[in-house]
Amino acid sequence: MTARLIDGKALSDTVKTEVSKRVLALKKQGITPGLAVVLVGDDPASQVYVRNKAAACDKAGLHSRVIRLAADTTEGELLDVVQELNADRSIHGILVQLPLPAHMNASLVIEAIAADKDVDGFHVSNAGLLMTGQPLFRPCTPYGIMKMLEAENVALRGAEAVIVGASNIVGKPMAMLLLAAGATVTLCNSKTRDLGAQTRRADVLVVATGKPGIVTGDMIKPGAVVIDVGINRCADGRLVGDVEFDSAKTVAGAITPVPGGVGPMTIAMLLVNTVEAAERRAAAIHI
Ligand code: NDP
Repeated sequence: MTARLIDGKALSDTVKTEVSKRVLALKKQGITPGLAVVLVGDDPASQVYVRNKAAACDKAGLHSRVIRLAADTTEGELLDVVQELNADRSIHGILVQLPLPAHMNASLVIEAIAADKDVDGFHVSNAGLLMTGQPLFRPCTPYGIMKMLEAENVALRGAEAVIVGASNIVGKPMAMLLLAAGATVTLCNSKTRDLGAQTRRADVLVVATGKPGIVTGDMIKPGAVVIDVGINRCADGRLVGDVEFDSAKTVAGAITPVPGGVGPMTIAMLLVNTVEAAERRAAAIHI
């Protein structure tokens, strides 16, 4: 059996086309959705991510502003920048690219972002809203995965969903979204005793650990839908996921590739969240 490939690139193009239409409608009301991306330091991967996010905004008709700060910027200076963006009416979404330099407290910085501009959905109040079933912003990566599952017509109600990796930005919000969709969710972490015993039960398996090849074909239930979130750079420069693709594709029913799977969807959902923020502001103006 060879798994069906879930094409995140193609689906992200469809999502971005829908975003462009919503941007046009907002522009007719005199509003251009604006995203500010703050990058501290010169981490090469972060620079690529920030460039890609800004380019995607521009292409879809949103206004983007990239603020690059030196690696030795103080936490206080960064908080001042965030406060300015909170007050800026032309900005609807604010994203501080992670990871931040070690001398900064990332939680403190994220909590400083106005919750109604927190398009990453990492602010505690947005995490709380998601947990209590009333999300304002869904974190972009899990939100994109939900879109993929929807586009693939994956039945989630009653399904066994297993997530490997329990970070605040991927695993935990993924668990909340799958739970809300009616799945029975298992969330694994580095202390999970027998990972294969968990993953082999999964109808839907999401892997987000940053450990290349942690899930192999023999750990997958035949026919399962496998979503590989991992992005790992090999010594030879290739990008690979957390799932051993060659063995997994012979067992899974459907699988996301790396690259070209979850990554493009994450950026597309950032645009969706920014447009949602701008639409909310527009609705508030008209009340
Ligand atoms: P983190 O390092 O924050 O979290 C990793 C999680 O994996 C932790 O919960 C950790 O467990 C768990 N883990 C580590 N080793 C094991 C193991 N042996 N068995 C089970 N669980 C394990 O990573 P992120 O969530 O930020 O990112 C994960 C991957 O996804 C990375 O490759 C990252 O680059 C990629 N990523 C991709 C995105 C995209 O758009 N495609 C977006 C975001 C991330 P514990 O809690 O016990 O430490």
